[in-house]
Amino acid sequence: MNLSGASTVLVRPAGELGVKSASVQRRMEGTLRENVESALETRGFDATVETEHTRMYVHTTSAALENVTRTLTGVFGVSSVSPVLTCEPTLDDIRGVLAETAKEHYSGESFAVRARRAGQREDHPFSSPELERAGGTAVFEAAQEQGIEPTVDLDDPERTFGVECRPDRAFVYLERYDGPGGMPLGTQEPVVALVSGGIDSPVATWLAMKRGCPVYPLYVDLGDFGGVDHRARAERTVATLTRFTPGDLALRVAPGGEGLGRIINSTGMYRMLFARRFMLRIAEYVADQTDAVGIVTGEAIGQKSSQTAAALRVTGAVTDYPVHRPLLSLDKGEIIEQAKAIGTYEDATIDAGCNRLAPDNPATQPSLDVVRNFEPDELDDDARDAAQNLETVSLSETDDSDLCSPSRDSRV
Ligand code: ATP
Ligand code: MG
Repeated sequence: MNLSGASTVLVRPAGELGVKSASVQRRMEGTLRENVESALETRGFDATVETEHTRMYVHTTSAALENVTRTLTGVFGVSSVSPVLTCEPTLDDIRGVLAETAKEHYSGESFAVRARRAGQREDHPFSSPELERAGGTAVFEAAQEQGIEPTVDLDDPERTFGVECRPDRAFVYLERYDGPGGMPLGTQEPVVALVSGGIDSPVATWLAMKRGCPVYPLYVDLGDFGGVDHRARAERTVATLTRFTPGDLALRVAPGGEGLGRIINSTGMYRMLFARRFMLRIAEYVADQTDAVGIVTGEAIGQKSSQTAAALRVTGAVTDYPVHRPLLSLDKGEIIEQAKAIGTYEDATIDAGCNRLAPDNPATQPSLDVVRNFEPDELDDDARDAAQNLETVSLSETDDSDLCSPSRDSRV
C-alpha cells in the first residue's frame, strides 16, 4: 500500500550491528550508509540519506517511494524499512497525521496503534501507552467521521498504525517490509563463489554476502561437457543476485573444457571428485589474483556422491583456502525455499541439457590418498591456464521484479 504523501523511508539497521563495540558499530553503519547510497545511485534514484543513532532515513520523491523502498529491502544490514509521514513529536501533531492517514487508508478492519518512543524521558511529556491510546482515539474518531464503524484489536489487528516518536520529530507508518538482515556488504573480506547456475550455489553465494563478504562469482564453463544453456543459467542467477549488491556483479567465466576432457578419460568412479577438485583449484588461482580470502560452494553434506562427508574431505583438501559451505546442513527443500525467496529459483530451473560428466557408479567413501594417486597430474596446469583465461561478464539487476518484491511483515 502506498502511504499517500510520503516521501521518506525509515530504515532500521539489523539488530546485530547494535551489539558490536562502539567503533565497530560506527564503521559498520558507515558501510551500510555507503551501500545504501550507491544502491540508490546505481538505480538512478534521486534520494538523500540521513543517518541518526540506530536509524537511517532516505528522503526521495513520492513518485519514487515504492521503488526506493524495494531497493532498500535488498541491502544487507537492513532489518526492515517503512515508508513514513513525518511530523512534530507532539501529541497533537501525531494525532492529526494519524487521523489523516485513517481517512485515507482505513476502511473498518480491526486495527491497533503501536507506538515506540526513543530518547530521554523528558523529551516527550507522554509515555508510549499514552501515545497509543491518544492515537487510537484519533483513528477511531476519524473513521467514525467517515461513516465507518471501527474495530479495535490490540492482540492481532488486521491493520497496524505505527508511530515512532523521536526527540526532534515523529513518524507515522502503515507498512513494515523485511530487509535481508545480515551484515553490510564489505564489512568482511571478499570470497570467490563457485556458481554453477544450479539451485544451490546462488543461495550459498547469497548467504556469504549476507554475512558481509563481497563475492567474486566464478563459473567454470564445461565446454563440450555441459548443456547449451548452462552458462546462461549461471549468468541469470548472478544477475538476479545483483538485487542485493550496491552495483553490478562481475561473473568470471573460466574455460574448463580442457581439464574436464582429461577427467572424462580418467578413472570413472572418481570423476566427479576430480571435477570438484579441478574447480576448487581454478577458484584458488582466481583467489590468488584477487584479495579473496576463501572459496564458497553450494555443497551440502550427503546431497550427492561428491558431497558425502568423506568426499568433502577429499575435495576440500585440494586448496589451502578455507572452503565455505553455507548450505552444509540444509535439506534440499530448505535450500529451494531460500532460492525462491531470493528470486534465483526460477533462473536455476531453466533446462540446461544434460551433464555428461557423471559416472554410473561414483565413489562415495573415497580416500584422499587414492584420489590423489589416480588424479591426472596435468589438472593443476589446466586449472592455472583456465584461471589465466577468464572472461568477465558484467551483470546488473534483471527486470523480473515480481520475483522478489518485498515481503510484507505484519509485525509493526
Ligand atoms: P548447485 O549445487 O549450484 O545446485 P549443481 O547441483 O549443478 O549446482 P553440484 O554437483 O551440486 O552442482 O556442485 C557442487 C558445487 O560445485 C556447486 O554448488 C557449485 O558451488 C560448484 N560447481 C558445480 N559446477 C560448477 C560450475 N560449472 N562452475 C562453478 N562452480 C560449479
Ligand atoms: Mg548441488
